[in-house]
Amino acid sequence: MYQITQHLAPDSFHRYLRAVGMERDYTVVAHPCDLCGDSSFRSLVTEVDIGRGQRWELPVVMCNSCGFVMQNPRFESRFYEDYYRKYYRVNLFGATEPERAFVLDQMRRGDLLYRAIEQFLPDTGALLDVGCSAGGMMVPFHKRGWQTHGTDPDFGYADYGRRQLKLAIDVVSAEEMVLPDEQFDLIVITGSLEHVYDVNRTLEICRRASRSNGLLFIEGRALESGAASGVFSHTHRRYLTLHSIRLLMRKHGWTPMLATSDPLCGPTRPGGVYVLGRVDAPLTPSALLADARRGARDEQARVSALVAPEVVSASGGQP
Ligand SMILES: [Zn+2]
Repeated sequence: MYQITQHLAPDSFHRYLRAVGMERDYTVVAHPCDLCGDSSFRSLVTEVDIGRGQRWELPVVMCNSCGFVMQNPRFESRFYEDYYRKYYRVNLFGATEPERAFVLDQMRRGDLLYRAIEQFLPDTGALLDVGCSAGGMMVPFHKRGWQTHGTDPDFGYADYGRRQLKLAIDVVSAEEMVLPDEQFDLIVITGSLEHVYDVNRTLEICRRASRSNGLLFIEGRALESGAASGVFSHTHRRYLTLHSIRLLMRKHGWTPMLATSDPLCGPTRPGGVYVLGRVDAPLTPSALLADARRGARDEQARVSALVAPEVVSASGGQP
């Protein structure tokens, strides 16, 4: 257990930024827990993968109050905007478009998702895909008569979806989405909630954009896939579990109806956990805290059992 503000010397962050190709420095911010707001954490993983087989010291911690797992401290939001822009520039000189196989896999995943949750869906409706990338998951819904709308900060992939798949996709980060109130019957966030800078702002925007009987589907996969591969990625700001997704939904006004680790969207993204919720009144802050703390010990034990044997020992970190 330690106080996060003193964990790494500024020089370590400076060197990390250079290692991932950034040309300027950014402020490092110690965040409270995304879920419960507490500020006491224990170390879970001390090194993450930054690509090309390199590992770098960057802390992933677990909340002492509720068991939520997140990268902490993090850089200011500007870093993430610039980082995406840099990748966009890289894409300009390399692969500007996704591979066809990637898009076909997105379409297959969307079709499997539709079939998995069809019993909860209206015949047709309006779908929002947050972090949709090229948008392929929306295609099976579109073909069934749904109106679809996607958002993603990656210009190259989003533009492919707009041009090649004729989809409506806004190039925008999740926190900056501008959406009409009470518009969507289904919102899906598959994998990307682990990447966004501000998970609470993102879910607040989604909640306002949900119809009164609307559904939210969240897929998380960073924790189990990271544990299975022996290393976490530096691009994940948080690591979701069935327990933490359910609590995030209840915090922001959805009641979970279905929660499973069965591969609802097929086998191509292993380690996924999936929760479907329906719009409801959000929990009061005190009720959320009580629920989060009640389940904390079990959650911490589950996460530690999953992560500690593989990732912590592989990275040389302290359990
Ligand atoms: Zn917490």
